[in-house]
Amino acid sequence: MLGPRQEFQSALFYEFNLEDHVPDDHLLRSIDRFVDLGDMRSHLRPFYSDIGRPSVDPELMIRMLLVGYIMGIRSERRLCDEVHVNLAYRWFCRLDLGDPVPDQSTFSKNRHGRFRESDLFWQLFESVVTRCIAEGLVGGEVFATDASIIRADANKQKSTPKEEWDASSLDPATVPRAVKEYLEVLDDAAFGAASEVEPKFTSRSDPASQWTGALKGPAFFAYSDNYLIDTDHAIIVDVEASRSIRQAEVGSTRTMIVRTRETFDLYPEILVADTAYGSAENLNWLVNKEGILPHIPIIDKSRRKDGTFEKSEFVYDHEKDAYICPIGLPLRPTQRAYRNRKSPVAADNTIRYRASKYDCQECLLKKYCCPNQPVRNVGRHIYEGARDLARELSLTDAYVDSQRRRKKVEMLFAHLKRIMKLDRLRLRGPNGAKDEFLLAATAQNLRKLAKLIPQPV
Ligand code: SF4
Repeated sequence: MLGPRQEFQSALFYEFNLEDHVPDDHLLRSIDRFVDLGDMRSHLRPFYSDIGRPSVDPELMIRMLLVGYIMGIRSERRLCDEVHVNLAYRWFCRLDLGDPVPDQSTFSKNRHGRFRESDLFWQLFESVVTRCIAEGLVGGEVFATDASIIRADANKQKSTPKEEWDASSLDPATVPRAVKEYLEVLDDAAFGAASEVEPKFTSRSDPASQWTGALKGPAFFAYSDNYLIDTDHAIIVDVEASRSIRQAEVGSTRTMIVRTRETFDLYPEILVADTAYGSAENLNWLVNKEGILPHIPIIDKSRRKDGTFEKSEFVYDHEKDAYICPIGLPLRPTQRAYRNRKSPVAADNTIRYRASKYDCQECLLKKYCCPNQPVRNVGRHIYEGARDLARELSLTDAYVDSQRRRKKVEMLFAHLKRIMKLDRLRLRGPNGAKDEFLLAATAQNLRKLAKLIPQPV
């Protein structure tokens, strides 16, 4: 039998409980168990005035921001509209049906003001990581690191070529917030101090962003989102914003390793990373300063293309401080440096080892070793010991397992861009990038908690 037509007819009274209309298996219901904002009000109290109009509840704003990052809603205007009409979002934000949703302008005022001053987003991230540790999701033994390039809110039309850019002419008192932040980080290892090489273009609206062509297509302005993760369950244990150049990304990883130890008392045994992190200086820092085993492919520029003996065919003898060539003869540190009373270390931090001219002239293998030179030279970096260790580790089964684990950090970045839609920043300046990366990492950790810890029945 055909039923009656459904007609809209507003009732005078409703009996409605929001709780009944959020499905038990809804993602936000699962995540809500791990959002603990109990200390937030006391943390923020010093940043609010004792008099004046009552503010919008900061917990409501944080919950709304979390909804935005968890559900991939990038626009704050759209977020306000969605929270208005979506019952699950209202439930998560503790808003009843009739409660008004804050205006989008409230977010910008608080983000740039008291949220940033109080370091609230870091506190939130830290509390979620602490919960992950308490739930046993962080093993603390094998960490992985990587960086992903995220487009900045800046374009080429509003940029200046490096020949015309002069940071000293900028007056911090009159420039916009993002430019002021740029001036503040000029000596920061993750930004201005990372490299002396000037970028080809500098954005006038967000000068701390990096002009980069690293993704092979047309160049653009970007920041790098750096993650340090525990590889057991891909929990992000630290996050850092930096310029999109290798030196800044490597520096960020060092900052994160030290901060993770100080904040969460985590001492990883192994760090897994790609070749970008395999410089001799970085390997030495990991091995000799931090006591961490590098499961990292080394940056090796000694490969030969003419078919002659590779450096790997010369074995270093620690006792004799000499390389032993394929026929068993020694290559010793070059003598010229000692004669000139200079350091034997060259400008590229290597010591050159030379075979004897007599040995090479008589050698039957010379055409396979140094056909165009009178003797064979082999360079040894001052941190070659750390490189040797990384080479040895790369031959182990644990290394193969580590490379599989490294994919987890890449998958987190893929998730960040595709599902959470963070492929372009909405906020400008280093602090804007930091805020967005922190909230996104918090949202990813919350999603992971919700997925791995089943709801009690
Ligand atoms: S050419 Fe010189 S360094 Fe090379 S194998 Fe012969 S003796 Fe050794």
